[in-house]
Amino acid sequence: MKLVAPIQLTPTPEQAKLLLETLGRCNAACDFLSAKAWEAGAFRQIPLHRLAYYEVRERFGLTAQAAIRCIKKVADAYTIDKITQRNFRPLAAQPYDARIFRFVDDNAVSIWTLTGRIKVPFVCGEHQRKLLAHRQGEVDLMCVRGKWYIGVGCDVPDAEPIGCSDALGVDFGIANIATDSDGKAYTGEAIERVRSRMSRRRAGLQRRGTKAAKRRLRKLSGQQRRFQAHTNHVISKALVEAAKRSGRAIGLEDLTHIRKRLKARRSQWGRLHNWAFRQLRSFVAYKAQRAGVPVLFVDPKHTSKGCSKCGTVDDRNRPDQATFSCIGCGHRAHADHNVARNIRARAAVNLPLGSQVAEAA
Ligand SMILES: [Zn+2]
Repeated sequence: MKLVAPIQLTPTPEQAKLLLETLGRCNAACDFLSAKAWEAGAFRQIPLHRLAYYEVRERFGLTAQAAIRCIKKVADAYTIDKITQRNFRPLAAQPYDARIFRFVDDNAVSIWTLTGRIKVPFVCGEHQRKLLAHRQGEVDLMCVRGKWYIGVGCDVPDAEPIGCSDALGVDFGIANIATDSDGKAYTGEAIERVRSRMSRRRAGLQRRGTKAAKRRLRKLSGQQRRFQAHTNHVISKALVEAAKRSGRAIGLEDLTHIRKRLKARRSQWGRLHNWAFRQLRSFVAYKAQRAGVPVLFVDPKHTSKGCSKCGTVDDRNRPDQATFSCIGCGHRAHADHNVARNIRARAAVNLPLGSQVAEAA
């Protein structure tokens, strides 16, 4: 599995200033190259190189290799389409290859800047250090909210798939973000508290409508996304660990249906929740794959009104949003738990393949 490990650099204030200048200069050079490419219709690396290599080096004071990385970055930006001229933010990530970047001493990097190479220490946890063992290819220099990072591409081997004879069914909802077939609920209370606090603040800022208020609004939405992403990491990790510990696969409803079901909820939750929901799902799929836990996607038909004990399907099994109460056998449960158990049963049926690992959704 390919992924990017963000490694935080800890430059001195002088080094940070130099990195900032370097990144700014590279992006200015990319903007210049982008305009050249646009005018001449020379979008690919080699034609653009022929057209602008010497000029960009001279104008922006870049070394040969830095100029080549800039040309490649611009050419890459045009591979998707050539409909609009690309612009580069002053802090857009800048690729570095082995000729202008390397790791030294296990805790620092040597990186090219406008005044030559500098050695900058980095900090990283145990998890990231393990990932670094699988690094390959280029890295990206990035500045995010005033902090410096190296994004390191890693190709991590997937864990050996675990053999499993059962599945842990998972239902995603609103009040409980996730409920598993063991009956464990992962609540959205903390998220809901933050969400409503922030939406009050947002409403106030929107009324004001000033430039400063708009800036503040963007910041708020970033904070909320980060909080939600953190919660999603915690929940997906717990789900995958629960499955792995007990030697079970994970069962999820297949996505096409979830979209349909979520349509109704969309008005109450809005874009952010839909984003958060897709993210949680992809976190589960991704962490499961890394842990060797198979993920099975099941047909979700009638999972909410079918009884997980006796199989009776009836609208009357759902007296209200939160309750499942079977008219056939009298089984009562929280509605989400009943759904998760139905998903579990369907996933378990599909298990004979056993070792299959689902693609990340
Ligand atoms: Zn029943």
